[in-house]
Amino acid sequence: MDPDVTDCERCPSLVDSRSRIVNGTGPTEADLLFVGEAPGEREDERGEPFVGRSGDVLDEGLRKAGLARADVRITNCVRCRPPDNRDPHMSELEHCREHLQAELAAVDPVLVVAMGKVPAEHLLDRDVAVTSEAGTVHEADLDTVRRVLVCVHPAATLYDRSQAETFEGALATAADYAGDGGQSTFGDF
Ligand code: URA
Repeated sequence: MDPDVTDCERCPSLVDSRSRIVNGTGPTEADLLFVGEAPGEREDERGEPFVGRSGDVLDEGLRKAGLARADVRITNCVRCRPPDNRDPHMSELEHCREHLQAELAAVDPVLVVAMGKVPAEHLLDRDVAVTSEAGTVHEADLDTVRRVLVCVHPAATLYDRSQAETFEGALATAADYAGDGGQSTFGDF
């Protein structure tokens, strides 16, 4: 099933603030599905997730982990840019949940990478201390039971350089799952 959303008006304030719906990008056969929070200004302009400064950090982190952006799938919990880049409201996360579930089902990833507090808490359905839990993998009951890796948001490394190592460590863990069906790390469960 095509996980792209062409028309959705469930969130009135996001319909007002968005220029377009920002769907996921990358191969639907990807082993890794990276999930961010919501599109920012650049993403809203270009219609693609993580193409602004956070995207530059993500691309560089992927490269250092031996991964390429072209090989991974990237999406957001919420597909429309919130006004003034505020956090998405709970109702907006819930409205967009069906789209995220469709993406999970279409991609069927070996590992879901939750980038930041909003996606980690949305996917794991609990409070998450992202910095201390970064790099850990958990099972979550999503469209089916899936592995979710907690990762700091790439933007966190822009405000706090010490987060860069945490971010890169989490991406190195993600890379372990890519390409081999996660077999080498399956014993972690
Ligand atoms: N931050 C996010 O969480 N998602 C994007 O697409 C861009 C920045």
